[in-house]
Amino acid sequence: ADEDSASVTLPLPSTLTSSRENRWNDTNSYGSKKKLQSWLQLPNGDWELVKIITTSGAESVISLPDGKVLKVKEDNLVPANPDILDGVDDLMQLSYLNEPAVLFNLQYRYNQDMIYTKAGPVLVAVNPFKKVPLYGNDYIEAYKCKAIESPHVYAITDTAIREMIRDEVNQSIIISGESGAGKTETAKIAMQYLAALGGGSGIENEILKTNPILEAFGNGKTLRNDNSSRFGKLIEIHFSETGKISGANIQTFLLEKSRVVQCNEGERSYHIFYQLCAGAPSSLREKLNLLSAEEYKYLRQSNCYSISGIDDAEEFRIVKEALDIVHISKGDQENVFAMLAAVLWLGNISFTVVDNENHVEAVEDEGLFTVAKLIGCEIEDLKLTFSTRKMKVGNDNIVQKLTLSQAIDARDALAKSIYACLFDWLVEQINKSLAVGKRRTGRSISILDIYGFESFNRNSFEQFCINYANERLQQHFNRHLFKLEQEEYIQDGIDWAKVEFEDNQDCLNLFEKKPLGLLSLLDEESTFPNGTDLTFANKLKQHLNSNSCFKGEREKAFTVRHYAGEVTYDTSGFLEKNRDLLHLDSIQLLSSSKCHLPKLFASHMLTQSEKPVVGPLHKSGGADSQKLSVATKFKGQLFQLMQRLESTTPHFIRCIKPNNFQSPGSYEQSLVLQQLRCCGVLEVVRISRSGFPTRVSHQKFARRYGFLLLENVASQDPLSVSVAILHQFNILPEMFQVGYTKLFFRTGQIGVLEDTRNRTL
Ligand code: ADP
Ligand code: MG
Repeated sequence: ADEDSASVTLPLPSTLTSSRENRWNDTNSYGSKKKLQSWLQLPNGDWELVKIITTSGAESVISLPDGKVLKVKEDNLVPANPDILDGVDDLMQLSYLNEPAVLFNLQYRYNQDMIYTKAGPVLVAVNPFKKVPLYGNDYIEAYKCKAIESPHVYAITDTAIREMIRDEVNQSIIISGESGAGKTETAKIAMQYLAALGGGSGIENEILKTNPILEAFGNGKTLRNDNSSRFGKLIEIHFSETGKISGANIQTFLLEKSRVVQCNEGERSYHIFYQLCAGAPSSLREKLNLLSAEEYKYLRQSNCYSISGIDDAEEFRIVKEALDIVHISKGDQENVFAMLAAVLWLGNISFTVVDNENHVEAVEDEGLFTVAKLIGCEIEDLKLTFSTRKMKVGNDNIVQKLTLSQAIDARDALAKSIYACLFDWLVEQINKSLAVGKRRTGRSISILDIYGFESFNRNSFEQFCINYANERLQQHFNRHLFKLEQEEYIQDGIDWAKVEFEDNQDCLNLFEKKPLGLLSLLDEESTFPNGTDLTFANKLKQHLNSNSCFKGEREKAFTVRHYAGEVTYDTSGFLEKNRDLLHLDSIQLLSSSKCHLPKLFASHMLTQSEKPVVGPLHKSGGADSQKLSVATKFKGQLFQLMQRLESTTPHFIRCIKPNNFQSPGSYEQSLVLQQLRCCGVLEVVRISRSGFPTRVSHQKFARRYGFLLLENVASQDPLSVSVAILHQFNILPEMFQVGYTKLFFRTGQIGVLEDTRNRTL
């Protein structure tokens, strides 16, 4: 650095502390001033605002809001912010940054329907579970022309658009949160804003209409959320040079197939089944031999058919209209409905024992006949698929007869495969319709809406994959907000007190290490013919017990220490779900079909099975399709996703669920706190507050604002020009630092320069 930079650099006020105990209780701005208000933690864990009457030694006398006076240890008190800071719209503005202060601030705003709050660069959205008057064209217009500045999905989306244009870098909006926290709604709100600003070609309407389609086929009612997405989604929206939307592409992740054949009491399978049953016109009903939802075994098992406030027949109409709009022909739509009916009817196929070895055959009834008709195959072939399995042993082909549970497995596997193929096929058709034209500029904004961290009483393979994905995303978040930030300061010679953050690399290693990581061991065990969930669990305990993120549990269970907390997984079903086998007999059945879709699905399944073999190599069952294991495929998708995200400027939205009852107005502190801790919101605020989040290279800064200089600068090198600009605009010395290659600014400093530039241009 030269003299110029020295003259404008002030030492960074070092208010940071890396000590664990002290992490939320920074006392920088009040110092020794008497604290009148404090937070007292109640036995139930909630915080109450109290007044301090006197303090002597380590004890204080305080009064509670109801007038009660108490003597408490001072350790139990946490300083509260002055009233004037109630409900600030960025947590960075809080003088005391501690957990109760953040909780209270979010609650204060929530009670006034201000559901959005900034936490430094991150947008926090607290689910209102009711309509709030914050959306629509007037609001979009107001955010577009910056008439409103309060935190909003629109505001963050606006920033993404501007940065895409300004920096010529692709952007991503990464939305995370628990199930029911509001991710999917938030994604739609962001899409709405993009469509409004980048609309004009008509493609924006098509993009918006993908939502009702994907929700019908990929969402279902769970105990946590009436409209829970059971797949992850990345939608990449492309823009032309003029800033108009030119197309889009959707990628989906890990659809929960098991829901098709099995779901818990009080939950529902995918919406589309109920919509079809309720809304199909009579001609279609006849063609598909449709019954009402209650008459299908797959739908009957959970004993839940409707969702309050939802009219499935009306939804069906909306979905059909949306299918029209994304150019899925009426003929194809009918094929789709036929496949849905086939899946439902498959569940009604029943079996009867035919010999004294408990082998079974499908009963020749309406179920069997209807499935054969809908799939377009011979009744005999269908029957054979569920009663026998062809296998190659050595050079001989042998036929194994199936028992009841094997037959049911074969039937359910077929139903799941057809549904998953149908879902993939739909996404493919939608992508064709939204395809970016030849004149692509490569500019895009991607929105990621992916299942959040899940921890239930019983956690299975699905939670295992979902939580692994969240571990990866958390690392992306960490890296972006903490690591890269600090590395960049250090690299550029900026005085920077290092801040500790929770690194989750150890947990990722636990999953990914080869050959002794969770995923490798799972795949290995899945290829052993004699591997079972128990041998898998034992193998984990044998190899991983020394790993600090792993804990073996009794019998078939194990625990992982995730960044968001410990989760115990029950390995029952792990191997089978990971193998996800479909008998070759079933694929052959589909390929013999007279109908378009089943044939297509079969060829799709066959090409999948030609990929490198990670699936089981049964000595006895050589005729099974061999394919990538589900976990390996998912890992591949995830790595691809991370690679794509790495090349974008990310914008993070953290959705928070204030209660578990989907009810408006209820804000449970402990539930909110647990989510804030999980996603590191407080750390982000802490680091951003003390850091310099905006940074621009000397060259870029001089190029962008140099023309605003009123006086000539003696030297024309970028650094001198930059410094002159800073002087002219009276940017306070503590608000920026000059690094070797870049200028670093505290939040909100560039605004005045941008405004002047925009006015001048
Ligand atoms: P997630 O995708 O995180 O599981 P959703 O986006 O499906 O959660 O939200 C669950 C429910 O919460 C929605 O169906 C809706 O009723 C409600 N909700 C979420 N965000 C909002 C919002 N911004 N305004 C009104 N209701 C919302
Ligand atoms: Mg969702």
